Amino acid sequence: MGKPEFKNDTIAIVGVGLIGGSLGLAFKRVGIGNRIVGISRSETLERAVEQGAIDTGFVYEDLESGIQDANFIFLCTPISRILELLPRCLATAKPGCIVTDVGSTKRAVVDTAHEAGRSDIAFIGGHPMAGSEWKGVDAADPFLFQNAIYVLTPSPGCDPSLIDRLAAVTSRIGAHVVQMEPEKHDRVAAAISHLPQMMATALVGLVGGLNEKDGLSLKLAAGGFRDMTRIASSPYEMWRDICRTNATPIRETIDAYISVLTVLRGRIEDEALADDFSYANEVRDRIPRDSKGFLYPLHELMLVVEDKPGVIAEVATSLSDAGINIKDIEVLKVREGEGGSLRLGFGASDEKERAGQIMTALGYTVLSR
Ligand code: NAP
Repeated sequence: MGKPEFKNDTIAIVGVGLIGGSLGLAFKRVGIGNRIVGISRSETLERAVEQGAIDTGFVYEDLESGIQDANFIFLCTPISRILELLPRCLATAKPGCIVTDVGSTKRAVVDTAHEAGRSDIAFIGGHPMAGSEWKGVDAADPFLFQNAIYVLTPSPGCDPSLIDRLAAVTSRIGAHVVQMEPEKHDRVAAAISHLPQMMATALVGLVGGLNEKDGLSLKLAAGGFRDMTRIASSPYEMWRDICRTNATPIRETIDAYISVLTVLRGRIEDEALADDFSYANEVRDRIPRDSKGFLYPLHELMLVVEDKPGVIAEVATSLSDAGINIKDIEVLKVREGEGGSLRLGFGASDEKERAGQIMTALGYTVLSR
């Protein structure tokens, strides 16, 4: 059987923001869909057509006209709006349509879809684990889903061939599809995404309070504090919906974290703390790395670099001249006037070896694990 083409499908995107607009651009890039219809506010639709993310648009009041011929409907608004609009989409979708969403929590959305009780269409929850701190269609990126994990949470009894169809569409735009139950998704997301957000918010709040008194804490805040708290800049609007639709797993994960912290608190002057550090070191090293999501292992090297203009350009150009693709790059430490280190990730071990030789020949210090 050949690759499914999706050339004749009509795709509706409800809420053409960062994720919805990026889906539209990605579908266009790979030639999926003969017509991409956006449903949003009129100003958004105008921008989305200009950018080429959609072919045509309908405002929310005309949602039914916009989605009635669709083979795929992607709901890409904030979660609270997905919950409002989903029953209307499910009531109008034509038989055989695949309805999905991109919300960051899954159980509430899947339960709402289940209540609609339509057996002639498939609702398959989705969560592309890619994004950015930017919002709206102007920030849309046709490559956003490349190498990203895309979680699908099909409803029980969903026709496997329809799950395969949605998985094929998301794979075609570069994502790695992973299937799981909505409850499992939400529990995992609570631990790896929602708890870190709460920790960052709490930690910055704590240090902010100390800074009010000493006027020094923020001035002295260095790399570790900044690394751990980057996400404290996230906007509350998105998190309100995540917290309200995943409250129990988030509370349970916070409780589990408090218990772990309490154990650490008791070991602060105890050699047993060494075991906690070595276990954490070992687990951290075991996390497979990928530029967007932690699932597919990369082959990595570290470069110690001087702080001078053009260093990253020199590294990137020399590797590209040798036909080596850098899959992931991260600036790990920058010491002003001294230099820092770059972590480079490659798709294969021979690329890593060759990259190491090229960098050594150029005079860089190369570290490899
Ligand atoms: P976004 O850029 O703000 O886009 C959401 C779009 O939804 C807006 O452009 C807006 O278009 C529409 N919308 C409808 N009702 C809205 C309301 N009440 N408030 C705000 N916007 C409304 O956000 P996004 O990052 O694409 O997120 C969309 C969904 O993707 C969310 O459910 C989020 O959980 C999920 N998600 C986000 C990320 C991420 O990192 N950003 C990653 C994975 C999943 P109109 O103004 O035209 O209505």
